[in-house]
Amino acid sequence: MFDMSKEKHRKKWTEKELQFLVNHWLELSDDVISMELNRSKGGVASKRNELGLFRQAQKSQWQEWEEDFLVRNFYLLGQEAICDVLKPRKWETIRAYATKQLGLRRKNRLYKHQIEGKRKCKECEKLLEETTTNFYKDGNSFRTLCIPCGMSTLN
Ligand SMILES: [Zn+2]
Repeated sequence: MFDMSKEKHRKKWTEKELQFLVNHWLELSDDVISMELNRSKGGVASKRNELGLFRQAQKSQWQEWEEDFLVRNFYLLGQEAICDVLKPRKWETIRAYATKQLGLRRKNRLYKHQIEGKRKCKECEKLLEETTTNFYKDGNSFRTLCIPCGMSTLN
């Protein structure tokens, strides 16, 4: 009894159907193919995968808006926020693409205080040149506190 219903479920693919799938999977969606062949979408997808005709290659192609988004936000947004927008891409994939393909670098968190070569003081929010007369040195970089603000917090 069970075998009967199973048999019904997994209708064997005819040569003609297979040929149609192979010839059209690139230009037609699984939806359209399933309607054309009067099969379930899942059935079409699993047969297609079985034949090695994977759609992942298309899905993984980066869209222009995704690249734009990354260029503008890779430094600024946190990992979660970026993954949320670029779902279902994984962070590893995103980071690899951004750094290797787009040449972006995620620096330390102080980056958001650097705008067009100048540095924004976190206290007074003035945008000043990165010089020792404006900011305190911190190793090779500067602190995000300008000297006047640093003086006033000391007093
Ligand atoms: Zn300041």
